[in-house]
Amino acid sequence: MVPQARDSDILILGAGGAGLFAALHAHKAAPELGITVAVKGLLGKCGCTRMVQGGYNVALAAEDSVERHFMDTIEGGKWLPDQELAWKLVTLAIERIHELENELGCFFDRNPDGTIHQKAFAGQSFDRTVHKGDLTGIEIMNRLAEQVWARRIQRLEEHRAVELIKTADGDAIAGVLFIDMRTGDYLFVRARAVLLATGGGPTMYRYHTPSGDKTCDGLAMALRVGLALRDMEMVQFHPTGLLAGAHTRMTGTVLEEGLRGAGGFLLGGNKERFMPAYDAKAERATRDVVSRAMFTEMRKGNTTPHGGLYISMAHLGPERVRREFKGMVERCADCGFDLAGGLVEVVPTAHYMMGGVEFAADCTTVLPGLFVAGEDSGGVHGANRLGGNGVANSTVFGAVAGDSMARFIKKEKFREPDRRAIDAAIARCERPLSAPSGDLEALRERLYDTMWERVGILREAGGLSQALAELDALDAELARTGVIDTTRAFNLSWHDWLNLQSLVAVGRAITQAAAARQESRGAHYRGDFPHTGALETSAYTSIRADGTVTMKPVAFTRVRPGQTLLKHAA
Ligand SMILES: Cc1cc2nc3c(=O)[nH]c(=O)nc-3n(C[C@H](O)[C@H](O)[C@H](O)COP(=O)(O)OP(=O)(O)OC[C@H]3O[C@@H](n4cnc5c(N)ncnc54)[C@H](O)[C@@H]3O)c2cc1C
Repeated sequence: MVPQARDSDILILGAGGAGLFAALHAHKAAPELGITVAVKGLLGKCGCTRMVQGGYNVALAAEDSVERHFMDTIEGGKWLPDQELAWKLVTLAIERIHELENELGCFFDRNPDGTIHQKAFAGQSFDRTVHKGDLTGIEIMNRLAEQVWARRIQRLEEHRAVELIKTADGDAIAGVLFIDMRTGDYLFVRARAVLLATGGGPTMYRYHTPSGDKTCDGLAMALRVGLALRDMEMVQFHPTGLLAGAHTRMTGTVLEEGLRGAGGFLLGGNKERFMPAYDAKAERATRDVVSRAMFTEMRKGNTTPHGGLYISMAHLGPERVRREFKGMVERCADCGFDLAGGLVEVVPTAHYMMGGVEFAADCTTVLPGLFVAGEDSGGVHGANRLGGNGVANSTVFGAVAGDSMARFIKKEKFREPDRRAIDAAIARCERPLSAPSGDLEALRERLYDTMWERVGILREAGGLSQALAELDALDAELARTGVIDTTRAFNLSWHDWLNLQSLVAVGRAITQAAAARQESRGAHYRGDFPHTGALETSAYTSIRADGTVTMKPVAFTRVRPGQTLLKHAA
């Protein structure tokens, strides 16, 4: 099958905060360039940046500082973050928030004196989270999308990237192969620079928060093209996902952290509080601690009818709960729960992947011509991401990538792709259209169970090796399983098959990295290695497609464990 072909100077995969910021910055740096944003869904309507509720961390207040934001990020990341990436995050977040307000037109909440309101978020020593009510992501995405639409930036919507294609001698990227989901045809886009910004997304777990279009395609493509991923064992779980049964996509979606912050109680199936037995801060402990305690109670069988736990707010007064958590009360009511006066079933839910493609502070990767930004990248957050540092990460590094790509292509020509690699990718994607049809839903359920039970909140060596065997078996079964409907246009079963293939490949990388880290740190907890190793010799996992994991030492380029950049604390 011969794909259609076109050229674009810069090709951006993904239209979240990272992808759209990259497009705007590349266009600003060189308006004459051909820039294309390719996205699996509709521009502005998909991905997780749109789902951001809480807000955006940035050191704006006179009493705050980039050093303080930096130390919170390093300590929150348990000394695993790349310090140059973290420094870039905290320093450039200030520029980006001003750009969002003053150039792109975002309205954030303000104090009576006109300054930007910044609220408290867990794990931070200062209230620095900028927000627009509890719908911050919609404000950011709407303004970004309008600005992209207003410029001469090409869009390939409902185009799914399926393979990064190198040159025949493998020395650089030549372009990307897509499926046009509206027709089922293949399209090869040759580009002088490509940005990977497809946003990761741990949707291989039974309960998860990210949007359904996110299935780790970018990370799977990066592995296949030979890149290393770092910190893949670090998957963040949010304690309070709504649990409303298997029939609704509302299950897994987040009930905001403010509920616990305001004094909400978590109860077992026996309707008694359990958190005080686990941590002195009880329900206000950090996300990893609360999720672990919840999972332990669930394993003990102290569960609700749907197999989770309860959150209870009624003791705070139903009127107050209705007033302060209007959106959450409505979300729960939609699923038949009374948050203000009754009990709501909740479960920890997979929220964010700290791991991703290894990259440098200018967003380059080791593959010339390929750049990465946002949740597809690894190293900014280390073992844990602070709430509010996710959207800062995608917008800061999206902008850096746009600037870098515009500079990079000044001296770059279009490169010829390896035709055999294109043929091989098409053959892989075509497989489910000719194989005997099978039960994809059953395969998905097995994937969910494996990741949730053995590679989730509590891990140990035996479970991880069972998981690896199961993931290998799933991969082989998937390769033999076809889809019933073989029409090409908008064939969701076909795309589901491709989604599952990405999720199994990346699930395997998570499992292998989790087996290699024989300690507990941040989001990664090993029942057989419950303690954290020496911080001075901190090392991060770096994994390749063949499963080889290398432990690489963290370079403490700005501050060492036990030290601080805060003058008053020194
Ligand atoms: C419910 C929820 C609440 C959150 N709240 C906060 C918060 O308050 N503060 C915070 O800092 N962070 C928050 N986050 C995290 C934050 O959303 C992410 O860190 C960030 O937005 C990721 O940006 P991104 O551009 O990397 O990816 P995304 O915004 O997810 O965009 C990824 C894009 O890639 C596209 N794509 C995927 N696969 C393909 C493919 N194969 N081909 C082409 N396109 C593809 C998608 O369609 C999408 O357009 C939250 C996340 C969730 C799920």
